[in-house]
Amino acid sequence: MVEAIRKSTREERERWIKEAKYNLFNLKSDHVFIDLLTDSGTGAMSDRQWASLVLGDESYAGARSYHALREAIREILGFEHFLPAHQGRAAENVLYSAIVRAGDVLPGNSHFDTTKGHIEFRGATALDCTIDEAADTRLEIPFKGNIDLDKLEAALERYPREKIPAVVLTVTNNTAGGQPVSMENIRQVSALCRRHGIPLQVDGARFAENAYFIKTREKGHENKTIKEIVKEMFSLVDIMTMSAKKDAIVNMGGFVAFKSEELWKKCQMYCIMNEGFITYGGMSGRDMNALATGLDEGTELDYLESRVRQVARLGARLDEFGVPYQRPAGGHAIFVDAARVLEHVPREEFIAQTLAIELYLEAGVRGVEIGAILADRDPVTRDNRYPALELLRLAIPRRVYTDNHLDVVAVALKNVFDRRESITRGYTITREAPIMRHFTVELDVAAR
Ligand SMILES: *Cc1c(COP(=O)(O)O)cnc(C)c1O
Repeated sequence: MVEAIRKSTREERERWIKEAKYNLFNLKSDHVFIDLLTDSGTGAMSDRQWASLVLGDESYAGARSYHALREAIREILGFEHFLPAHQGRAAENVLYSAIVRAGDVLPGNSHFDTTKGHIEFRGATALDCTIDEAADTRLEIPFKGNIDLDKLEAALERYPREKIPAVVLTVTNNTAGGQPVSMENIRQVSALCRRHGIPLQVDGARFAENAYFIKTREKGHENKTIKEIVKEMFSLVDIMTMSAKKDAIVNMGGFVAFKSEELWKKCQMYCIMNEGFITYGGMSGRDMNALATGLDEGTELDYLESRVRQVARLGARLDEFGVPYQRPAGGHAIFVDAARVLEHVPREEFIAQTLAIELYLEAGVRGVEIGAILADRDPVTRDNRYPALELLRLAIPRRVYTDNHLDVVAVALKNVFDRRESITRGYTITREAPIMRHFTVELDVAAR
């Protein structure tokens, strides 16, 4: 589907962003020229996916569409059991309702914001064991999303087994910059989990991009197909939560998949209570069809190559202009190192958010803050948490924009970069929610 996009003037954007309380989530999409807020549900479906919609079976129970999805999940991912859910966080809700209790600890690489939200909301702790190298944006290493095995082992030894319901491995590691996790790391994490009798959960929103990086960067995998690599990855895993809005290229959908029949049964009640009966769980039949097709298309090499290379190309354009970003370029997005661009904005005034607003004012390009606003407050002390990195994420929707659009983005960012010395004032929060505040936060220009 082709959609029109609208240009605007700087004066208009100044008014709109002020009316939006300087929160880019509050903007109307018509007030955005190029929308890189997220790659979630913003992809363009294929002819095959649109065709499969028409064949959707909307039976309440046992629909053909459910069985088509079941087949795809079994064939492509290797899980025998699954529960559909309307999106990734709903899958997390179903799973964590069954396994997470107050006082529990879930170690992992960087937990996604909704994952962390669901964990902390239940009074449990999301323990980040990502390798330290991930915090150095200039360092060019192939698998910057990996878990640090020493940190993980220390955590598994420190807390009693019954307090650790799962280890959560997010592939690719979005929070660290869309950085992949190596097959070797998955294998070692899996072995460690087995040794301690703890299930390994993969948050697989971007599992296919991760497989592409394994194929192109990890020795011994270069001659395997993406589907072979995906199968191998999930052979090491007990549970998978999936936001299908990412690598399954649908606008809405998700699921939680299990190796254990017992856990699947334990979770069914929470699916029925929160999502719907276990053969549709918050999805219509047509959407399950499109998702089944998307799992197949999303794990094809040609598609992944064009996608990941488009992201890398945007990175290469930024290199020409000297704009610093998390290196190497990630799978779905470029993460601009905002702290190295806006050196005069104090972190208390939200550096990455300030850069996001400047880029919007410059050219109507919408990115998203991955910094202190997203990091939220400490659940106990209620102090602001300041993460190691202040990043502006430019997420590329799948099969939507051309390289020309991304050239506009690169040049707009260059313009902001060139006048960075003059940007010294950030923003302060005037209103925020107690958890996952970034979605609805209200800000004003910092008074100084
Ligand atoms: C998007 C995402 C989620 C949550 O999924 P939704 O579909 O947005 O609810 C969880 N984990 C990761 C890694 C994600 O990218």
